[in-house]
Amino acid sequence: MPELPEVETVARDLRTAAVGQRITRVRLSRPDVVRHPGPEAFAAGLRGTRVEAVERLGKFILCALDSADELVIHLGMTGHLWVCNASLPPRPHTHLRCRLEDGRELRFADARRFGRLLLGPRALLREVGVLPLLGVEPLSDEFTRDRFTAALRRTTRPIKSVLLDQRSIAGIGNIYADEICHHAGVRPTRRCHRLTRAERVRLFEAVPAVLHKAIANRGTSFDDYRDLWDARGSNEEELQVYGRGGLACPRCGSVLRRTVLGGRSTVYCPDCQR
Ligand SMILES: [Zn+2]
Repeated sequence: MPELPEVETVARDLRTAAVGQRITRVRLSRPDVVRHPGPEAFAAGLRGTRVEAVERLGKFILCALDSADELVIHLGMTGHLWVCNASLPPRPHTHLRCRLEDGRELRFADARRFGRLLLGPRALLREVGVLPLLGVEPLSDEFTRDRFTAALRRTTRPIKSVLLDQRSIAGIGNIYADEICHHAGVRPTRRCHRLTRAERVRLFEAVPAVLHKAIANRGTSFDDYRDLWDARGSNEEELQVYGRGGLACPRCGSVLRRTVLGGRSTVYCPDCQR
């Protein structure tokens, strides 16, 4: 599932490819990927608008349009957004095609259809409940050591559950939660209020370190994720624990252990992560 680094990679490239472009034609072949408004209003509201800006919030991509609406894209599990020449035949599960002025097309495909598309003013999308309120952006200035460590002291939840909670910190999913815990040398199952000050600080530092590295590698293409140009990211080779249960810890050589936490597969090193 695409997480912050993958969504950030797509958003940055989309900024280059689509800002300033007018959407001249809209073809929506699978109406149920649109969660707001209805499919006809979605297509009509998108047609003829110009993309003015692209922003990422958590795992959402928000394209500001000159109509004052925003086109919001969430990739879900298998969603893929890409730009290609409009003459290329669409691949299976392509649900939306937006023709741009330069002759290219912005396409959205999603085999499992957990992704979603929204159109409207941001405040309205929040009001009707299709765009959730998100926690702090971990790569922004608002993500401060004091705020993060104080929040950890106040909760008894396991650290991994807090990292995954989009209302606490936006954008982190199963891959990077495991990687952040390993980077910090903290077992994912540890209860936050029991963490030492040094552990809380290491976790605070691990969050941007792990995310920035993954963005530099253009994301992790473990499953279906591809970037805006249909290329794989290279961060998979950098993963220390995710998907590596039973293999050696890259840091100490111990066998990595796999467990389940809150219904999510979780891998950690029994020796580096106490
Ligand atoms: Zn280890």
